[in-house]
Formats: sequence, C-alpha cells, structure tokens
Amino acid sequence: MSLASRHIALVAHDNKKVDLLTWAEFNAHTLRQHTLYATGTTGTLLQHELSLEVTRFLSGPVGGDQQIGARIAEGLIDMLFFFWDPLEPQSHDPDVKALLRISAVWNVPVACNVATADLMISSPLLGSDYRHVRPLMETAV
Ligand code: PGA
Repeated sequence: MSLASRHIALVAHDNKKVDLLTWAEFNAHTLRQHTLYATGTTGTLLQHELSLEVTRFLSGPVGGDQQIGARIAEGLIDMLFFFWDPLEPQSHDPDVKALLRISAVWNVPVACNVATADLMISSPLLGSDYRHVRPLMETAV
C-alpha cells in the first residue's frame, strides 16, 4: 500500500446507484489504489459490476450507514462518497443525517454528488501525504 493510499467509503441510495456506478467505473483505476468500503448493496454492485475489491457492511437501512459512521468516529475512514437522494425520503433518514453529521464532526471530506466526487478524486492532495486534521475531542467527562 502506497503512502497516499486512502480508506474510502462509498454509499449510494437506490436512485443514485447508477450515478455512483458510472462515476466509479470512470474512476476505477484510481479507486483500485485505495482501500474501499461500502454499504451492502452499493458494495455488491461495485464488486460485481466493476470487480472492485470492497469491504461490505450491512445494507444502509439496516445499519450500514451507522457502521461507516462508527469507523469515521474511530478515524478509520479518510473520505466518504455518499450519493444520498435529495428527492426521496428514506426509511433510515436519521442514519443519513447521523452519517453526514459525524463526517462533519471529524472533518472527513464528503462528496454528495458527481461534481464534488470528480473534484475530490482528482485532487492533487490525494496523491500526496496530505491527511485531514482530526479535531481534538474530549475523550472523557
Ligand atoms: P445500500 O445502502 O448500499 O445497502 O443500498 C445505501 C443506503 O441506503 O444508505
């Protein structure tokens, strides 16, 4: 694993899965250089359609978003590509909000659409030793 290899999480709601897969196919060469994680169905699609190596968590609605959020809190995820659906309510909207919130808490870069994903994946910082700063947090009360 190279110095700049990142731990990247990918999540797409059902209406956004085509967008994410199309984007991931275009960027497959870059994505292969990193360690990938995804919620259940998103991960299955990335594995089967693009032959990407992905650690899969549970499907988003049954805890996958929370599993990724927990790893962000633990400092184990460097970037999140989260194509959430802004036009449809989700059964797990609280988990969606929680994932976005915990990413903001820990200063983890998040792409919620293709344009932002394009900019993040092509950033020169991706191939450098740049690491996002993790805010110092109280660990005990
Ligand atoms: P899925 O979950 O990849 O299992 O579809 C995504 C989500 O809805 O959060």
